[in-house]
Amino acid sequence: MNKITFAKATTFSEELQKNVEEYFKTTGEKKRDNPLMFFKAALMFAWCGAAYYLLIFTTNTWVEAIGYTLFLSFAVLGIGLNVQHDGNHGAFSKRKWVNYIMGYSLDIIGGSSFFWRKKHNIAHHTYTNIQGADDDIDLGIFARMAPEQPWRRFHRFQHIYLWFLYGLMFFRWHFDFEAFRKSLFPPKDGPQPGTWDRITFLGGKIIFFNLAFIIPMLYHPWWGVLVCYAFGIFSISAVTAIVFSLAHTMDETEFPLPNPQTLHIPSEWMKHQLQTTVNFSPNNPLLTFYLGGLNYQVEHHLFTRISHIHYPKLAPIVQETCKKFGIHYRVNTTLWGAIQSHYQFLKKMGQPHMQPIA
Ligand SMILES: [Zn+2]
Repeated sequence: MNKITFAKATTFSEELQKNVEEYFKTTGEKKRDNPLMFFKAALMFAWCGAAYYLLIFTTNTWVEAIGYTLFLSFAVLGIGLNVQHDGNHGAFSKRKWVNYIMGYSLDIIGGSSFFWRKKHNIAHHTYTNIQGADDDIDLGIFARMAPEQPWRRFHRFQHIYLWFLYGLMFFRWHFDFEAFRKSLFPPKDGPQPGTWDRITFLGGKIIFFNLAFIIPMLYHPWWGVLVCYAFGIFSISAVTAIVFSLAHTMDETEFPLPNPQTLHIPSEWMKHQLQTTVNFSPNNPLLTFYLGGLNYQVEHHLFTRISHIHYPKLAPIVQETCKKFGIHYRVNTTLWGAIQSHYQFLKKMGQPHMQPIA
């Protein structure tokens, strides 16, 4: 499916890019290397370090264990949303090595920056909501997330059970033996890791498993460590999966398909992103800060190499340009409204012949 092509950019894409460039010229703001981003990264790492210390070296009771586990888990998620995401997109800095170090934080917290760059940056960001090409809408047999996916009887209940399955996503990442195999013996048609990619992949796994299991088990019973790990990871996994879902698998979004013969999508790429992506709760500064701007997924999808701290300022520019060209700009004004929209989407896709509202 990676031979999919989009229509040629029209004056809409040109004008949108020009307007955004103009913003950076007139304000003198830098697209990357912003002090606020370095502050955020330092804050997330310090939060994570302090929470880890409290959990492993000071915890004596179950109440402390539960509280510090949540405190640590949300610090880990903060790194995932604010540091690795920008780093792996090349949006943190103009210096490649800075992006690399920030991106590598994903390996330390249990993922793989190498596979993330392939799956997230290419499959998801280029071919958003295209069945068969965007891995993010493929949850296997458990869910029907696009009209072209096969319907199964139990999908009728997906709007109820999926919220719990979302909590399992990170376990799959942490114990992704398939990625482990592919990093050592890459298939010919898959991503080809270099020697350095393999070293960092394996190094990341060793660091993560030591931090998550070996060191804690030196100070606490093994079963207590496993209970805390399962509880913490389930919590942040559910939050992450829901945040990702609120951007694309919604009542408001579309699922365009390429022409089966030519694999051509009739929309230009930027318009395709606007058809398949929706913002939520844009006026909530706390959410914007903690989610790394992922409530502004429209701006993120249009300008992946611009630091997320600029999204609130870019949003009115994008909105205005869309209005001028008569293009629908999608936004759910509240978090609750977005959650309801995702619920409705799951419910509709759980019906055998239902199509989402575009
Ligand atoms: Zn992204």
